[in-house]
Amino acid sequence: DGRLEFMNSNGVCLLEIDDFKSVQNTHWWDMWQPENQQIIKDAVAKAKGGEKVQFQVFSPTAKGTPKWWDIIVLPVQEDGTDNNLPRILSVSRDITEQKKVEEVIRENETRFRSITNASTAALWMSDENFQITYVNQTWIDWTGQPFEKHLGEGWLKSILPEDQEITWAQVVNDFTARRNFKMDFRVKWTDGKIHWCVSEGAPRYLSNGQFAGYAGTCNDITERKQNELKEKELLTRFQTLVIQAPVAICVLRGKDYIIEVINKGMYEMWDRKIEDIINKPAFDVLPEFREQGLKELLDNVLNTGEPIVLDELPLTIRRHDSMENIFVKFVYEPLREVDGTISGVMALAHEITEQVLSRKKIEESESHFRKMADLMPAKISNADTAGNVLYFNKHWLDFTGLDFDEVKDFGYYKMMHPDEIDEFKNRFQKASETGTDLEMEMRFLNKDGNYVWHLNLASPLKDEKGNIKMWVGATTEIQKIKEEEERKGDFIKMVSHELKTPVTSIKGYVQLLLSMLKDTPETELAGLPLVSSLTRIDSQVLRLTRLITEMLDLTRLETGMLELKKELFGLNELVNETVKDITYTNTKHIIRIHTDFTGMVYGDKDRLGQVLINLINNAIKYSTDNNPIDVTIHQPGNNLIAVSVKDYGIGINKTDQLKIFERFFRAGGKSEHTYSGFGIGLYITNQIIERHHGFISVESEKEKGSTFTFTLHLANPLSR
Ligand code: ADP
Repeated sequence: DGRLEFMNSNGVCLLEIDDFKSVQNTHWWDMWQPENQQIIKDAVAKAKGGEKVQFQVFSPTAKGTPKWWDIIVLPVQEDGTDNNLPRILSVSRDITEQKKVEEVIRENETRFRSITNASTAALWMSDENFQITYVNQTWIDWTGQPFEKHLGEGWLKSILPEDQEITWAQVVNDFTARRNFKMDFRVKWTDGKIHWCVSEGAPRYLSNGQFAGYAGTCNDITERKQNELKEKELLTRFQTLVIQAPVAICVLRGKDYIIEVINKGMYEMWDRKIEDIINKPAFDVLPEFREQGLKELLDNVLNTGEPIVLDELPLTIRRHDSMENIFVKFVYEPLREVDGTISGVMALAHEITEQVLSRKKIEESESHFRKMADLMPAKISNADTAGNVLYFNKHWLDFTGLDFDEVKDFGYYKMMHPDEIDEFKNRFQKASETGTDLEMEMRFLNKDGNYVWHLNLASPLKDEKGNIKMWVGATTEIQKIKEEEERKGDFIKMVSHELKTPVTSIKGYVQLLLSMLKDTPETELAGLPLVSSLTRIDSQVLRLTRLITEMLDLTRLETGMLELKKELFGLNELVNETVKDITYTNTKHIIRIHTDFTGMVYGDKDRLGQVLINLINNAIKYSTDNNPIDVTIHQPGNNLIAVSVKDYGIGINKTDQLKIFERFFRAGGKSEHTYSGFGIGLYITNQIIERHHGFISVESEKEKGSTFTFTLHLANPLSR
């Protein structure tokens, strides 16, 4: 029934029972924790059935000490006992210590596995017959095959078929000799890609020195392999490049300058055969270079790491069986290793004969032209697009008394008269923008400190696209011409002054006589046409006065002496007064005034009156048949006021319209002698209007008439 009858003293001790009597005759399973009682009951039941049961169970002692037990339960037949009842024997062994050891081993193994599995390298182990007993997770992950598939010789199947045989051969070889081994092979990974692996292994021995097999690693070296391949490829590519390069190249390695790589360009230049010099010390096979001091030069590159360039080295070489003079550019570059040390020199040679020769040609022709420019009596210069002067010929330098560098530093602008610099800059800018010539009369400082008049001409030189490349300047001295002009001007001024006085007095007397004769009938003067003669004299004198005034105005304008006396006045009144004055002496033409607009201007009333007189007199002068003249005051735009003088006379053709405001211009040229005049009236008119910041224009058609319009700004008291 499973009641306890007997327990040996060892059992009592192990189970930590104080007094066996306290448990005697109780059910054995009652001693157990409730969760274990069923196991015991089952075991007892089985023993009762004649079976022997063995199991391990964890259960504390009577005093609560935790223990593992190995328990055997079996039926026993005791001979000679009464009623011959079967008994059940239980042998319990305390296996707590053993269990602890097992636990430690298990823990160690899990730790080992997790460590090896975490490794990025695949790890493996074999037994003494080189049968694989262990591979880590990394290898399993790579190959995608489960653990068991790799055991024994199964691992070989993961290696690329063409690598299997050689790999196994090496394994056997090294294994038999108990050598460390190292081998490369390819493995097809689960991702389908082929990876290069390197496997390294070493024999392992038990603590007693007995050989136990191999252990090793397996690393993915795909990238390194690829780099190696790439390097190899690069090297061959480099060699092809060197050989095919259009420049001559050679690589000289080490202190002896072994000719390691050389191309045709180079050995032909040296007049050698490649087989005579390749892989030999350069200065042994090319002794002439040592004499030329090339070794010191190369030593320098090797020691300092600084490249050396020999530009335009003249050489005589054999080419097509004859000797030829050429120019070569040599570059000696240090060859650096990955760690930065210099292991040799690379020489590059580039033939530049053509460049050098064509440059020399250019230099020659340039010096030729310079010489010509220096011999010329004119001042010649050259400037870049920004206006910086690059060249002055000898004449310029002689004039300034400076050498070129001084002039350059001294600056072009410092030689100019300060009054003309701004205008010159403006004109230069305009010429740059339009790509046209610049022409200006201006003064330059000579070596004696005097300003001398010059005619300065600058022409742009353009490239094929029409962009300005540079400026060529030709500067001619015109001091004498200027002085002459000035003298002429002075002369005209003097003549006009001298003429003005007698003419004014003649006019005075004529008018005095006329006014005295005003009321006397013509017939009373002894049949003499006195009044009509005097009237003619008066009108001739008026013309003379006008001519003299114009000449005086011209000289004033040219010398900048024309001053404006500005005041505020109504333009309409001025028009009315002027027209009235003109009609007083001129009765042939009707002058009609149209007032579309009334406004004030701020200007020189007399000068603007003179403008009106000029325009109306021209309208009269160049009209026939007593045609009327229309004078209109109107507003052509905001803040503007304009006066138009329209006639129905001979008109002006288109080309002449552009020129009539120039000095001394007379339309029709000499055939125009029927109309008296100097051709300066419109010039003065235009100048006066310009000085009032206004503008003048003309519209005209031949035989139909002309309209001259001048426009002024309306007076704005604030801006006066
Ligand atoms: P001029 O003293 O010769 O009249 P201007 O300077 O006043 O000089 O005029 C220049 C030229 O312009 C004249 O010679 C004439 O040919 C032309 N001209 C000026 N005004 C008119 C006009 N109203 N009709 C036709 N031609 C004119």
